[in-house]
Formats: sequence, structure tokens, C-alpha cells
Amino acid sequence: MSGRHEKGVNVQVLLRCRPFSDDELRNNAPQVVTCNDYQREVAVSQNIAGKQIDRIFTFDKVFGPTAHQKDLYEQAVIPIVNEVLEGFNCTIFAYGQTGTGKTYTMEGECKRSKVAGLLCCTLIFAVCFCTLLLLSGPNGELPSGAGVIPRAVKQIFDTLEHQNAEYSVKVTFLELYNEEITDLLAPEEISRVVEDKQKKLLPLMEDGKGGVLVRGLEEEIVTSASEIFSLLERGSAKRRTAETLLNKQSSRSHSLFSITIHIKEANPEGEELIKCGKLNLVDLAGSENISRSGAREGRAREAGEINKSLLTLGRVINALVEHLGHIPYRDSKLTRLLRDSLGGRTKTCIIATVSPAVHCLEETLSTLDYAHRAK
Ligand code: ADP
Ligand code: MG
Repeated sequence: MSGRHEKGVNVQVLLRCRPFSDDELRNNAPQVVTCNDYQREVAVSQNIAGKQIDRIFTFDKVFGPTAHQKDLYEQAVIPIVNEVLEGFNCTIFAYGQTGTGKTYTMEGECKRSKVAGLLCCTLIFAVCFCTLLLLSGPNGELPSGAGVIPRAVKQIFDTLEHQNAEYSVKVTFLELYNEEITDLLAPEEISRVVEDKQKKLLPLMEDGKGGVLVRGLEEEIVTSASEIFSLLERGSAKRRTAETLLNKQSSRSHSLFSITIHIKEANPEGEELIKCGKLNLVDLAGSENISRSGAREGRAREAGEINKSLLTLGRVINALVEHLGHIPYRDSKLTRLLRDSLGGRTKTCIIATVSPAVHCLEETLSTLDYAHRAK
């Protein structure tokens, strides 16, 4: 942990490097990123004007290509979920270039067949979540590919079910695209409108108590881990449908899955105590500079808006760790939404994801710089 944590601001920055993909292996893609998990270091080798230059970055934790989902969860996420169960608000972000493992880290996957194609993917995802559902009895183990979200859900219910306290758990799942909010849990009739490109957009309003609320957002009360898994499946499926309809939208949208827990306890004197904690799990838009991809009007605006949330998030985290007086929460929807969970007595964890291959070098360096600035 870095010294800043001792001063009270609790931002942990982790780096995860994915393995080479089958394509990269087939093409013998040169490796430019090397991880040393024990030293918490990442080295990036560059050849500039014929000279080999290594840059080394240190993070709170480093997970190289051989790290398992379980390793990352146990080493980085368990303490955060414990904090939520104690009544605090915490946030975990996945940040990185598209294709580097943000969704893999947050949601995870079961063994996926190598045959590509949408139908196949959809089927596999359905099977995947059904497996999660079936396997997740009270003592059920999750599949090894399960990511942070299913593991956190399991930890939450395993803990609550063993406590002698009344509790309630609520879930929301939204998508932020172009600074506009849509509900990933909205009932079918509403979501069908997506197909007419007339998405039902939800307004973000001040709640009069210093917080914000999203008007019309579905809040699902859940009583077991398996209920959350089916909600997650519903929301993720919707995100993927939009992806194909709207040309890979998901790489340009942020998704925010929030779990709010109320626990009613009695202290030794018999007084009633209510603890309320919230866990935000954020799969951020791809960090690559989309404006480079030959954008027209709409695209350019979109690139600006997406970068607005990502850039503001960087500035907010920076202002928090540097103890600046003004924290620019109000500058983007994402930071307004997360205001009650960033800063103060909260824990924040940024998981920066990178590819090991040379063709991603430029984006890898920009991810490492962004993540390093948040430390
Ligand atoms: P992103 O959400 O950042 O665009 P994905 O999570 O979709 O990226 O990952 C891209 C591909 O890489 C997927 O096929 C995924 O299964 C694979 N992948 C990513 N990270 C890992 C990892 N740590 N181990 C194994 N496969 C991974
Ligand atoms: Mg993704």
C-alpha cells in the first residue's frame, strides 16, 4: 500500500496483463510487457530509434498473464467487499483498451469454444450464466472463469446468510453512453424501443440531500445470489444486443452494476443499528482514443463525451489522492453517479488492464500512465 492510503484516501491501483490471444500466438506477436507480480512491477520494452528502452511502473498489485480470477479476487477484492458489509460505499473500476480483459475481469467467462460468431457467443453466455446459477447453491463453488461480480455476489450472500441479522439487498445495472443513461434491467417492453434507436434515457437528478438519483431506474430487491446472476445475465445480454445493433457500442459505453446492502443489527445494549453499504462495479468504456478512427461529426462528439467521463474520473481520483480542495465530481455523469462512493470513508480500486503484445504498445503506455497518475 502506498503512503497516501495512510492519510485516509483509499485508492488501490492494480495492473492486470492478459495472456496472448490465439491470434497473437499464431502470428508470433512480439511481447513488450513483462510483469513481476512479486515486485509489483510492470516493464514495457520499446525500441526507439534503434535503442532498447525499458520503462518500469510500480502498482499496489500486479497480476501477470498466468494469474487466475480467484487470485485477483482473493488478493484485491475480498477486503473491499468486507468493507461494504461493514456499511461503507466502495467502487471497483476496470480501465483499459478494448480487448484487454475489462469484461473478463469484471464478469468473467466459462470455457468458451473457439468457434466464433454471435449465436455461438450468446449461447455460450447463456450456458455460462445458467451454470453459475446451478452451481451457486449455498455451498456451491463458482466456475474458475467467474469474475469479480459473481464472486462478490457470492461473498455477500455467504456472509449475510451466516449472520444473525435482518438484511435486504438491492441491485441496479445501468449503462452510460455518450453521457446518457439507460437501464440494463428495464423490463422488455421498454427495452424493445432500443431497436428503434429511441432509447429510453433516464434523467440524473439531485435528490436534495447532496446526492443524485436516476429517475425511473429499476431497483431489484434480491434474496439470493442466483437471483442476482439472472439479473446480471439479463443486463449483460442487453448490453451485447445493443453492441451488435449499434456497432460495438459496448466498447464505447460504461456499465455500472451496484449492489446496496442494508443490515439491521442489535448492539449488546439491545439498540437497533442499521448499516448501509454499497458496492459499485464499473466496466469502463475502452480507453483508446476513438477520435483517431477517422470520425465523422457524431463519432467525434461521442469520443469527446466518452473521454469526458474517463478524463473527469481521472481528475476526481487525482484530486482525492492529492487532497485538493475542489473535487470536480460535477463535470461528468459518471462521477456524479459515483459521488457518494468516491472519497471520504470509502475504498476505491482501479484495475487497469493491458495486452502483452507490441501492436497495443501505444495504448498500453497510455493506460499505465493514467493508472499510475491515480496512485
Ligand atoms: P474488454 O472488455 O476489455 O474489451 P474482454 O474482457 O472482452 O476485453 O477480453 C477480450 C478477450 O480476451 C476475451 O476473449 C477474453 O476472454 C480474453 N481475456 C481477457 N483477459 C483474460 C485473462 N486474464 N485470461 C484469459 N483470457 C482473457
Ligand atoms: Mg468489454
